[in-house]
Amino acid sequence: MASIQTTAGGMPVLILKEGTKENKGKEAQRNNITAAKLISEIVKTSLGPRGMDKMLVDTLGDVTITNDGATILKEIDVQHPAAKMMVEVSKSVDNEVGDGTTSSVVLAGALLEKAEDLLNKDVHPSVIVDGYTAASEQALKLLQKIGIKVDVEDRELLIKIARTSMDSKLVSDDSPILAQTVVDAIKQVAEKNEGSDGLKIDLDNIKVEKKAGGSMRDTALIKGIVLDKEVVHAGMPKRIEGAKIALLNSALEIEKTEMSAEIRINDPQQMQMFLDEENRMLKSMVDKIMAADANVVLCQKGIDDIAQHYLSKVGILAVRRIKESDLFKLAKATGARIVNNIDDLTSKDLGSADVVEERKVETDRWVFIEGCKNPKAVTILVRGGSQRVVDEADRSIHDALMVTKDVVEKPIIVAGGGAPEAYIANELRQWSSSLEGRAQLAVNKFADAIDSIPLALSENAGMDPIDTMAELRAKQNKGMKWTGVNVRSTTVSDMFKQNILEPVVIKEQIIKSATEAACMLLRIDDVIA
Ligand code: ADP
Ligand code: MG
Repeated sequence: MASIQTTAGGMPVLILKEGTKENKGKEAQRNNITAAKLISEIVKTSLGPRGMDKMLVDTLGDVTITNDGATILKEIDVQHPAAKMMVEVSKSVDNEVGDGTTSSVVLAGALLEKAEDLLNKDVHPSVIVDGYTAASEQALKLLQKIGIKVDVEDRELLIKIARTSMDSKLVSDDSPILAQTVVDAIKQVAEKNEGSDGLKIDLDNIKVEKKAGGSMRDTALIKGIVLDKEVVHAGMPKRIEGAKIALLNSALEIEKTEMSAEIRINDPQQMQMFLDEENRMLKSMVDKIMAADANVVLCQKGIDDIAQHYLSKVGILAVRRIKESDLFKLAKATGARIVNNIDDLTSKDLGSADVVEERKVETDRWVFIEGCKNPKAVTILVRGGSQRVVDEADRSIHDALMVTKDVVEKPIIVAGGGAPEAYIANELRQWSSSLEGRAQLAVNKFADAIDSIPLALSENAGMDPIDTMAELRAKQNKGMKWTGVNVRSTTVSDMFKQNILEPVVIKEQIIKSATEAACMLLRIDDVIA
């Protein structure tokens, strides 16, 4: 319906272009809420360790199997603007903290569903928004209150946290090994944060390379870098111990001129001189590498056939066309300095590694730069039965890396399994009694929405939702604040004792992002398309 208004004189005033659709007031709100709820319904059944997986088929017929909320929503092509906002929620949580994407969408959906009850009772959206905002602030304070400070040097504890994040994934059976790999990778690349006493982690320094084949147990942390490239020349050594590595980002080739030049040669001798000169220049490049005493050359650009020949003659292992990002990682791992101009290369620029070796990984040949001394960049080589398995393992490792990074950078944790959510819901209900009428309603609804997390966990585990929630509330009321839903044993129990542990920043981000999205949608009373 285009809005056609008329002036006092009866002239139509056209504000919107013809064909513009406008959805107003309650209808617009209902419409948005329904779309957002639908999205949250989709991912809800995949929440937690007992959640189901989704099989996603794209237009080309490629299949992805996952239960990662952010991945599911990334793959499905949503149209509705409100549904798109829900997808944004999961993306923002993924970017900020890396885990908790499903929870944030479930919570946002629940907040909207509960708000709908109030809208039906003619509570004004602004009142709901204010109530929700206040409740979310209170919830963040409650998280601060129960959060437990931990020691980042405690490797076992970090492993427990990484395991919790992998517990809800396809790869949970192998989580003990994967979690160790993740934690060791993080510890290896952790650096002092300038100006504060905490640690800083740049996940760019952890390279995750995956290859289908073998089993997940073969997944390994490599103290160095794995390049999916071959040694450039068949005559070169395939293994060098005590490697002294030169990193070049210029080509070992004669530069072609930009202009098209023509050289007239009218005498075979001249031709020979020309070729000899080319040879001489390439040889002198290799001489410079030898003078610096390098035995491995890793080059970002090309290496001329003749240069390859000279390198192989003196027993230098070389790899060409390495990605720039990999070259940076190599510098961090081996301690080498990347050299732009071969003339500048000296032995001081070289990095070191115990061994550089070309190895067969399934059908490919990859070069492993391994055994670096205290490397600040490492590689996790992910293996698994099939492509889909390694893909999902890769996603789970991403989550676990992010979660471990979160704790190391801000070492405060809570238990999982819906325990903090149940605690917050309980506390909010008590707190709401101190508020006046309508705000109280909204805060109570917020508490109900937060309860949707333990509720969904128990439903997905096939537990009776009513009995479970009743028992959970009763125990929380007694002050047993770490009581949550143990979906492995399908009981209501102390999740801290079960070693289900999560960084507090994830819980904070879930609440912030979900509340923001829900409030934003509630404030909309006009959709013009
Ligand atoms: P998200 O994308 O939100 O991280 P997940 O599917 O990974 O969704 O599920 C995370 C939820 O599962 C968290 O609330 C976490 O506490 C919970 N969880 C993980 N392991 C267990 C467990 N063994 N028992 C109960 N809950 C668990
Ligand atoms: Mg998770």
